[in-house]
Parts: sequence; C-alpha cells; structure tokens
Amino acid sequence: MTETDPWAALRAARAQERKTLDEPSGKAILASFGIRVPAFRVVRSNGDLDAIKGELRPPFVLKVVSAEVVHKSEFGAVKVGLKDEFELNSALDAMRATLEGRGIRADCWMVEEMVPAGLECVIGGVIDPEFGPMVMVGLGGILVELMGDVAFRICPIEKADAVEMLRELRGVALFSGARGREPASFDALVDALLKVGGKNGVLMGCADAVSEIDVNPIIVTRDAAIAVDARFILTPLA
Ligand code: ADP
Ligand code: MG
Repeated sequence: MTETDPWAALRAARAQERKTLDEPSGKAILASFGIRVPAFRVVRSNGDLDAIKGELRPPFVLKVVSAEVVHKSEFGAVKVGLKDEFELNSALDAMRATLEGRGIRADCWMVEEMVPAGLECVIGGVIDPEFGPMVMVGLGGILVELMGDVAFRICPIEKADAVEMLRELRGVALFSGARGREPASFDALVDALLKVGGKNGVLMGCADAVSEIDVNPIIVTRDAAIAVDARFILTPLA
C-alpha cells in the first residue's frame, strides 16, 4: 500500500490480483462519499509514531494493514485504548512479534483515534448477479451474528427506504436508549446508509470494481455514525 489516492490504490490492488483493498484506502473511499471515519495515520515503523504526537488525539487504536489478514482481531492485530506514544510503541512491538510468530507479513500499520462507545452497527453491500448492488444494515455484534437482525434493499435506495430499513430491525429500540443505554443517532445512521446505498453512494460508484463491502462496525453515538472498519472485496480485472 503506497498510494495516497484511494482510487489509484483500488486500481493497483486489482491489477495485482489482490482480493481485498487495504483498510486505509477503503476508509478514504468511504470518506470521499461523506461517511465519517476516525482520523488516522499510516505508519511503517516505530520511528513514524513520533509524528503522531499533536496530530491525533488519544486514546489511540493500533491495527495491522496486511493483505494476509482479513479479520484482524482473530490475529490479535487490533489494540484499542492506547493512552500515549509509550503504549503505542509497546503495542506495535507486541503486535509485530505476534504476527511474525505466525508467519504473517505486515504491509504497514494504522494508528486511529478511538471513537467513544456507542451502538455498534453494520452496513454491508453485495453486488448480486441478478439484482445488482444491494445494501444491508444491521445492529452490531451478537445481534447480527446470532439473530440475523438485518434488512436488505436493492440499490439505489432513497431516504425513506433507509428509514424503513432501520425501523425493520428488531433491535430498533436501542436507538432511543432502551434499558438505560445512551441513545444513538438514528438520523446519522440513515445518512450513512444513504451514502453507501443511495444513487450517488459507494455501492453504485464502486459496483464495477467491488463485489462486496463490509463496514463492521459503524459506531453510532448520540450525534454521529463513524465507520471504524472498512473491508472492500475486489472483483478481478476482466
Ligand atoms: P476486525 O478486522 O477484527 O473486524 P476492526 O477494525 O473491526 O477489526 O476492530 C475490531 C473492534 O475493535 C471493532 O469491532 C471495534 O469494537 C473496535 N475498534 C476498532 N477500531 C476502533 C476505533 N477507531 N474506535 C473505537 N473502537 C474501535
Ligand atoms: Mg471489523
């Protein structure tokens, strides 16, 4: 991953027959469609961590960027809640050692600002051979995995569709702060869903190059929806 232009990175990744786009480029594409992502920097060595000082606000999150790692947490390759450069340095050493021990090559690393706690949701997309781009939304973690609490639509969706999709979710009461939880912005998630599945959205814009998009999670706080992970599965060049 050497490109700073995410579209050039997308073309290069397909030309190199890579199956996924690296997370920094995926997030830059989401941001270019107006979707919020945490502020982040790409680093290649411990020395680069010095430059983070003053540029990003702690607490930090450290993640590996590697074509060989799809689910980073499974490899111990996401560390949240790092308070300062000292903790960042030791987390980078530890993560590098763990990955090397498993024979995995890191392309580079990402340091991100940590998003405050919120409702973890998922926005996904697939290019269906029959229906074309389809967008999915669900409530995060266990609710999606165990209960399949998701809603699908064929793209492009309008704002009313996005609202309806969220209302279909069995866990929709969580947005108003059910059971003593903080409320989460329904409107911010509607807006993000439109930016993924709407007529000028990510899925319509990337349908030729991408077969699947997975924004898991997008963290919804009282006033914002922030995409903290972005996985783009690429289609091979014809
Ligand atoms: P994975 O490849 O394992 O899905 P993620 O990037 O989704 O890795 O990170 C794993 C988990 O760490 C997320 O589900 C989220 O709970 C937490 N996390 C990751 N990045 C951030 C961030 N910037 N702010 C807050 N929490 C984060
Ligand atoms: Mg994830």
